[in-house]
Amino acid sequence: MTASRFPDQSGGSNSLEAAIATRRHRMVEEQLVSRGIRDERVLEAMGRIERHRFLPVPELNKAYSDHPVPIAAGQTLSQPYIVAVMTEALELSGDERVLEIGTGSGYQTAVLAELAREVYTVEVVSGLAEQARKLLAALGYRNIHFRVSDGSGGWPEAALFDAILVTAAPEQIPTKLRSQLAEEGCMVIPVGPPHHQELELHQRRSGADGGFALQRLGAVRFVPLV
Ligand code: SAH
Repeated sequence: MTASRFPDQSGGSNSLEAAIATRRHRMVEEQLVSRGIRDERVLEAMGRIERHRFLPVPELNKAYSDHPVPIAAGQTLSQPYIVAVMTEALELSGDERVLEIGTGSGYQTAVLAELAREVYTVEVVSGLAEQARKLLAALGYRNIHFRVSDGSGGWPEAALFDAILVTAAPEQIPTKLRSQLAEEGCMVIPVGPPHHQELELHQRRSGADGGFALQRLGAVRFVPLV
């Protein structure tokens, strides 16, 4: 199974790169596949993206461990499994325009950029946004748009979005954000006070009545949306 998802491409390339790739493929099998992540596009993207590059100091054990990792400004890069759960919930097929709130390190942004057509990402800490912008450009991504602002207002000029992913937790759903979802679009968002957050999936129903279907995806712990 490992062999089919990640064919060995180490022939001739340097052994450090190969060792890191092996570590990353193990992350996918042990942390994601074994816990029920099934979307092959999500598994492949997370098997390919060099997560260690998104840390301030590229420590391999931290980068591929089963935990969130501190970045800067008191923020954290989410645990791989949580990145996978949130991304899989959006059921991206490749043609979507996606809004992300909380660029942070830019790792989740990269995952979205691999799986959707355009990504619009908003970060409130300008230093983090700038670092992520440079790194993602250096990695070759050309389909990401950056903005520094309070993401609870979304990005009205670029709305509507087929999907919205929020990586900081408000105590209540920001209605402005949800109103920027296209018909049948999904928003995945952690909601609640610091110690009682739940991951919620809101889907805008089609038709004129325009309601939302809500699904709860389990307890999580994110930094607060400020
Ligand atoms: N997705 C990130 C996780 C970052 S942690 C990653 O993969 O690294 C949450 C991020 O949300 C932090 O960078 C924080 O600065 C940002 N954030 C918090 N409140 C925000 C707000 N109101 N608007 C935009 N970004 C916000």
